[in-house]
Amino acid sequence: MRYKAPRGTQDILPSKVERWQRLETAARRVMERYGYREIRTPDFEEEDLFLRTVGEETDIVAKEMYSFTDRKGRRLALRPEGTAPVIRSYIENAMWKERRLQKLYYLGPMFRYDRPQKGRYRQFHQIGAEAVGSLSPLVDAEVIAMMVAVLREAGIRRLVLKLNSLGDTTSRASYIKALVKYFRGHEERLCGDCRLRLKKNPMRILDCKVPSCNELAAGIPAMEEYLSQEAREHYDQVQHWLRVLGVSFEKDKNLVRGLDYYTRTAFEVHHGELGATVALGGGGRYDGLVAECGGPDTPGIGFSLGTERVLLAIEQDKALRIKFEEDKYVRKAGYYIAWLGDIALKEAFSLAGFIRKKVRVEMEFEEGSLKSRLRQADRLRLSHAIILGENELKEEKFLVRELSTGNQEKMELSHSEEMRNEMVKKLIPYYDAEKKYDKAMDDLSYRTISGALSEYDGS
Ligand code: AMP
Repeated sequence: MRYKAPRGTQDILPSKVERWQRLETAARRVMERYGYREIRTPDFEEEDLFLRTVGEETDIVAKEMYSFTDRKGRRLALRPEGTAPVIRSYIENAMWKERRLQKLYYLGPMFRYDRPQKGRYRQFHQIGAEAVGSLSPLVDAEVIAMMVAVLREAGIRRLVLKLNSLGDTTSRASYIKALVKYFRGHEERLCGDCRLRLKKNPMRILDCKVPSCNELAAGIPAMEEYLSQEAREHYDQVQHWLRVLGVSFEKDKNLVRGLDYYTRTAFEVHHGELGATVALGGGGRYDGLVAECGGPDTPGIGFSLGTERVLLAIEQDKALRIKFEEDKYVRKAGYYIAWLGDIALKEAFSLAGFIRKKVRVEMEFEEGSLKSRLRQADRLRLSHAIILGENELKEEKFLVRELSTGNQEKMELSHSEEMRNEMVKKLIPYYDAEKKYDKAMDDLSYRTISGALSEYDGS
């Protein structure tokens, strides 16, 4: 074969896309319940936006950016993450004027030149949200709870939420001193990159993937001991309100996250089956980011979930896997038109156009036997077939067959608008009934999942 999808990218085929849509719909549903509105920013931005915000010393910027020069010599980059673009847009559109607290969410592709492996791609997707304009720890708790709610709505169990505070500027400075002191004592065990980081940005050592650095990082002093009074109170409040909202968490002193802009609250969510190194998502507070990008001094907090990772977690879950398997066999409301002969094809074509104003219709355009056509209708898991054969045509009628039972009924084939409207009206009750059935199935499986969830949560 001549062409392949570029390394680190994948096609999301129609057979898989349904899972994506379900997850995205669940995410939208939850976030809109929390009063968040969708924002769509470009897939590329000025490169400098990411250099300034994510940080030049981070892996994302130093090693993984898809940067390029356009025909006019502008330096651009495919976005490696979603927060900086949202903040850029927030400032460019003076969104604080509309409402003091802006609650925004996004879904879309991100690009990082990472080493491809399971759950790691060069083009991947994120579901994320940003709350810009409040310093209240209640907002931290709400954002985290919303992220967990998205995952729960998607049916995911066995979540582990990790929480840390990175402190404010004052606490950060004294903590960095302590970190440098600690790592200086063990400099010979640091990798080359980390020796540089020790000079430029010591906190980055904490998310180095080299095992010896990792081991060393396990022994670092806890940030919590260096928090300023204010930062400590904030951290305590976040924990308190998370408990109030019934969100369980573990404190993790090594959690720093791979971007420079985080302050105070940082969090990550993992899945029991995927292992500790693979996060489903995470986020944190970024109180200096808006000002850093040239906007007014405005605090903010956000999260992002990796869509591919969340789907991986769903695949690991037996109950969810079974549900998806079962779904494949559930019939979908719609008509498959099986026609025989040229005249019937013309009738079928015009009929399909008409019925489609209300109901899903499928048909082929090449000649085939009735048997093979009905088999195809069954493969598509459609609820009904319309049969337009020679006999039916002579009588100016067609047959509607319910595919699950084989029951069928004759109906008038007419060209008058009025009669056709009548016909569609007659067809719709079948369709509506099927739709209700689809919905009942959905509710049922959702109930089963939430039942399982409450057992797990003990709530
Ligand atoms: P980050 O912006 O690095 O905190 O990433 C947030 C989430 O996006 C991670 O927890 C992953 O779920 C996902 N993610 C990050 N990088 C990749 C990647 N290269 N491939 C797939 N998912 C990723």
